[in-house]
Amino acid sequence: MSFMGRILRIDLTEQKVEKETLSRDFLENYLGGRGIGAKVLFDELPPKIAPLSPENIIIFATGTLGGTFAPASSRLTVTSKSPETNLYCKSTVGGHFSPELKFAGYDGIVVSGASPKPVYLYIKDDLVEIRDAGHLWGKDVRETDRILKQELEDDRISVLSIGPAGENLVKYSAIMTNIYRAASRGGMGAVMGSKKLKAIAVRGTGSVKVASPGEFAKVALKARELVKDDKDRFFRYFFFGTQRGIVWANEAGFNPTRNFQTGYIKDAYRIGGEYVREKYITGETGCGSCVLCCGTFYKVDKGPFAGSHSEGPEWETCNSYGGRINTTNTEFLLRANELSNIYGLDISSAGGIIAFAMELYEKGLLTIEDTGGLDLSWGNTESVLELIRKIAYREGFGAVLAEGLSSISGRFNNSAGYAMGIKGLPMTSVDPRLTISYALAFAVNPRGGDHLHSEIICQFGATPEHVKIAQKVSGSPEGAKPLSFVGKASMVKYHEQICCASDSLGVCFFHTLSSHRVSPEILASLFETATGIPMSADKLQHVCERILNMERLVNIREGLTKKDDTLPRRAFEEEIQSGPSKGLKLSEEAFNRVLEEYYELHGWDLNGIPKKETLAKLGLEAGN
Ligand code: SF4
Repeated sequence: MSFMGRILRIDLTEQKVEKETLSRDFLENYLGGRGIGAKVLFDELPPKIAPLSPENIIIFATGTLGGTFAPASSRLTVTSKSPETNLYCKSTVGGHFSPELKFAGYDGIVVSGASPKPVYLYIKDDLVEIRDAGHLWGKDVRETDRILKQELEDDRISVLSIGPAGENLVKYSAIMTNIYRAASRGGMGAVMGSKKLKAIAVRGTGSVKVASPGEFAKVALKARELVKDDKDRFFRYFFFGTQRGIVWANEAGFNPTRNFQTGYIKDAYRIGGEYVREKYITGETGCGSCVLCCGTFYKVDKGPFAGSHSEGPEWETCNSYGGRINTTNTEFLLRANELSNIYGLDISSAGGIIAFAMELYEKGLLTIEDTGGLDLSWGNTESVLELIRKIAYREGFGAVLAEGLSSISGRFNNSAGYAMGIKGLPMTSVDPRLTISYALAFAVNPRGGDHLHSEIICQFGATPEHVKIAQKVSGSPEGAKPLSFVGKASMVKYHEQICCASDSLGVCFFHTLSSHRVSPEILASLFETATGIPMSADKLQHVCERILNMERLVNIREGLTKKDDTLPRRAFEEEIQSGPSKGLKLSEEAFNRVLEEYYELHGWDLNGIPKKETLAKLGLEAGN
């Protein structure tokens, strides 16, 4: 119930399709979505293989609640070994692909091997075919979507695809669905590209049943009401999308600028939600079963970028192609966003790497000869647009940057200190010097430096509800103070578990973590009434701990050590240069203390390795 009980196994080397049954026990032990991905990777990924070799596997898994009307339950988790970090990676995406896969009768797809020629996967209920994609290879994401809908004569088919960046194995290429929605982080697009898998097109005519329809409806409707009831938030998400917070962040010195040299940029309003809404937004959109619907469409009517259109821009775009490279040029940003989407590039990594190159250029560590004639002075938007194209097609200096941050940070003299990444993944737009819990969450994220492993919005104490949660979880009023080290290890662990539950059930964080309206108790209740498997918030927490430990074990197998759970040197050694947060930097000693406190809370030793008794408690001692 709510779980279709089968996954597809696609072997691209053998060009073979198999359907495999998943048991109810599997569901109880690993939930769905992220849990499926972690379990398959844990059991089946051969250690130390090259991420872009046929030995790598990639898993597309729906959440347990996918296809139901539980709030925002349409997220899909993509899991694989990342070519950007050489470690475990999960990347999630909204849109409508996940419910459609459920309607076709599957909880997920596991793809192994590699095809000798470009192919796409066509799924229509029981019909599953590997088809030739020679005519799609080289096409961008928008074209691919259009051609597939046309040739399959189905406007409603859900397409997941890669663009030129994925085909060209750019280490931070994304997988796109609904054209503009991205499973962006960790280079999952390159893994698809290495398998010559251009796209998956799915259409299902079935439905998802739940175990206790009456009870489920009651809980789901109540959860939806709770989210809607937070009126101010509801309004801001709907009208301004994620970019609503840019101006606020900038005023607080929280808008990473010039590759994290500072946190403030003049005229940030030009890349903020209100300004973009007034001038460019043409409509609203949302993922399947969403309550908040934070998506917006835009179009540029005049000027050099007239005709440019896409979904967004998201907060990350507004920083990655804004402050990070020192510009507030709105129309450039909208065009850069469009190009990145249709080329299938991860905007956080692309913006982060370009900003890194710009800082090297500023410092004289990179010259115009190195860049092939591109002037990489701060804010040179023309060069950035050219570079985005060159990265996607691996041309000239673009081919150098396409290799990812780890590869290039050692390439130019004394440049590693300016690489603002963790485990090789460029950080998303939060400066760790401004918030201890984010600093820790970024450092221990198994896929690298970003906020989507533990999103601790409540630590800012924006609402009385947030303050209450921060106090309860951390055991102290200090929990709601971003610069206090007190209680931050428990805050990170608690939010890791909610993130994990949200990803596994397929529910968008904006409904669980940002508002805390869809609480762990509600998630447990939704799971129980949908599947018929008894679930409580405590049990959910326990299962999530199992998933988190499996992710950790995969990384340890790949060679991860405590020294990888850290921050870029700049966070410890350099003060923020200007703006409202001027002068802040982090104490490395205090950070290491909070890191060890975090390990202890998880039942890991001082080197971050899960202890035997921890694994026994989670049923993982013999690799179960
Ligand atoms: S809030 Fe935004 S990202 Fe989340 S499900 Fe809704 S539309 Fe998708």
